[in-house]
Amino acid sequence: MQSYGVTEWGKPLQQIVRETPAPGPNEVLVRLSYCGVCHSDVHVRQGYFDMGGGVKNSLADRVKLPVVLGHEPIGVVAAVGAEVTDVRVGDTYMVNPWIGCGKCAVCQQGQDNLCEAMAAMGIARPGGFSTHLMVPDKRYLVDVKGIDPARAAVLACSGVTAYSAVQKLGPPQAGQCVAVLGCGGLGLIGIAILQALGHTNIIACDIDDAKLETARAAGVQHVLNLKTGGAAQLLALAKGGLSGMIDFVGAPATSALALPSLRKGGRFVSVGLFGGATTIPLVALAMREVAVLGSAVGSTAQMRELVELVRSGHLTLPAVQVRPLAQAEQSLQDLEAGHVTGRIVLDTLAQAE
Ligand SMILES: [Zn+2]
Ligand SMILES: [Zn+2]
Repeated sequence: MQSYGVTEWGKPLQQIVRETPAPGPNEVLVRLSYCGVCHSDVHVRQGYFDMGGGVKNSLADRVKLPVVLGHEPIGVVAAVGAEVTDVRVGDTYMVNPWIGCGKCAVCQQGQDNLCEAMAAMGIARPGGFSTHLMVPDKRYLVDVKGIDPARAAVLACSGVTAYSAVQKLGPPQAGQCVAVLGCGGLGLIGIAILQALGHTNIIACDIDDAKLETARAAGVQHVLNLKTGGAAQLLALAKGGLSGMIDFVGAPATSALALPSLRKGGRFVSVGLFGGATTIPLVALAMREVAVLGSAVGSTAQMRELVELVRSGHLTLPAVQVRPLAQAEQSLQDLEAGHVTGRIVLDTLAQAE
């Protein structure tokens, strides 16, 4: 098998060639077809996440090199372990890369994403920039029959991240208005999911007019450029306050908009990892019954619900740029330089065996 991984923090990805392993009793070996390239792959290659305020969350202390990147894998079952039932060689699956310990209470409930010992593929265990991927258990497989596998790859990270955040707002109700802060790739998927779930009054916010135009073309009811507008404009557009706000930026300036523009009982969901800190007036938080929630990735069950939403025709997956696996490093460099519109998906079959 061939893979692309970090062999030295902060340095270009290297090709890694090793013997394709045989699955253990409960494992499933997947011959990958595609793997999405996510902005967090750039951070993993660097060896740290910038937490804002000069604080770095270093991977170097807890992750052993080499690490094969990629956490949006999709492919075809090549072999199954002796104990694996109901999974057929040749079937196509998306793989949930957010792998928990499998033993704790949240893992038992299928919420590996909340496991304190989560070891994600492409970060703490080998990921999908590879011809093959070993999946520790069949419960991480998501059936994607009937949908375009190249586009479906993005569901494992950006798709489920947006879906889980939208779900935290609760079901849409008549007269509700919700705001989406940040209309990059994640924000646009968030808008598409809100619409698919029946939200009909959405304000898209960004500081880039081109991104706001894309959001408008996607059918949002209002757009607001946050360079010139803020909480007062949000209140006016929402006619009495927002019921929900999803912050795909996660910066002090965006989170500061939450309390002044949410109505009583409103929900603020923080997703973006821009970094920094915020101050919340506690009396207003209590008296206005506002909920402040964090949201990161999601569960296998949520990925299955998302796939159903695509199959039902309510959610259209965005077009992707497909590149051969060998362009993994070039793709990270292009992402880093801000040269990428839309998602890059690596074609892992384009690589010779
Ligand atoms: Zn990601
Ligand atoms: Zn666990």
